[in-house]
Amino acid sequence: LGFVPQTEKALIERIRRQAQFPGRFVKTGIGDDCSVLRIPSRHEILVTTDFSLEGIHFRREWHLPESVGHRCLTRGLSDIASMGGDPIAAFLSLALPKALPQRWVDGFVRGLLQLAQTSKVTLAGGDIAQSPSGILADIVVLGSVPRGQAILRSTARVGDRIYVTGELGASAAVLDQLLSGRKKKLAPQKYPRYFFPQARVDVGRILRQRKLASAMIDVSDGLSTDLSHICDESEVGAEIFSQALPLGAVSQPRAAALNFALHGGDDYELLFTAPASKKIPSTVAGVRITEIGVINKRKGMLLMNESGRRTKLQAKGWQHFR
Ligand SMILES: [Mg+2]
Repeated sequence: LGFVPQTEKALIERIRRQAQFPGRFVKTGIGDDCSVLRIPSRHEILVTTDFSLEGIHFRREWHLPESVGHRCLTRGLSDIASMGGDPIAAFLSLALPKALPQRWVDGFVRGLLQLAQTSKVTLAGGDIAQSPSGILADIVVLGSVPRGQAILRSTARVGDRIYVTGELGASAAVLDQLLSGRKKKLAPQKYPRYFFPQARVDVGRILRQRKLASAMIDVSDGLSTDLSHICDESEVGAEIFSQALPLGAVSQPRAAALNFALHGGDDYELLFTAPASKKIPSTVAGVRITEIGVINKRKGMLLMNESGRRTKLQAKGWQHFR
């Protein structure tokens, strides 16, 4: 059976039944004109919105629907993590082509709701419409953070050290394999960091609670591009030590792995700065933290190689499937 408008109501009913998790912050969820949320006292609300578009962010022949649903929510959770916040609720707007098999929709919803449940985020509303072509999913995630404590991009200072969580480049290596056509399909369970990435919500919260980070962003478009956002917003420059980068694509030649780590997307790690005087632990919430560079007064980004030679680092982050 294809997706037809008559099934819209049935689909909403099914999502509603599955989305009934105990929601501390959601008083009224799916089923009314608006959802009613409880805002924790002395907190501010974080709001982020992200598209997942067929052909741009995923392809049906490469990504299981469960993976597309999971990644859709991860993108929003990662933005909340990057502010040091706690996710509260998610809202999903879906536009689905008429010929889409029902089992694809079911898999997508299953993948999204499984992650919502483990992340303690309530799916509290959304919309469904028919798409003239291709699947479009738009996720809105709300989070909360104690008043005045959100970690911004604009507050890095000259002399701050630059850190990154986990490893960089593993997802880009997977995407490269898919794009090259060498592999038609890759087993999702062998590449969980790409197909089922986990946002670093716990790390972000702990960095905020311990007041360790001066500025932060999540690495979704690639280190070079995301670091350039911190530099632009903070009006500073940066220098990255290529030797220090935690490379995720270990099976690749070093030059390729370095390239994926510098410019690859979909890592969902956290990139943050901290004053040199702050002692940053080597792991936070079980996740490795690596010092990779320093914030400079002089604008622009530099890459220092193992022999100390500096070259310009261009923001060449992931351009989706171009
Ligand atoms: Mg972000």
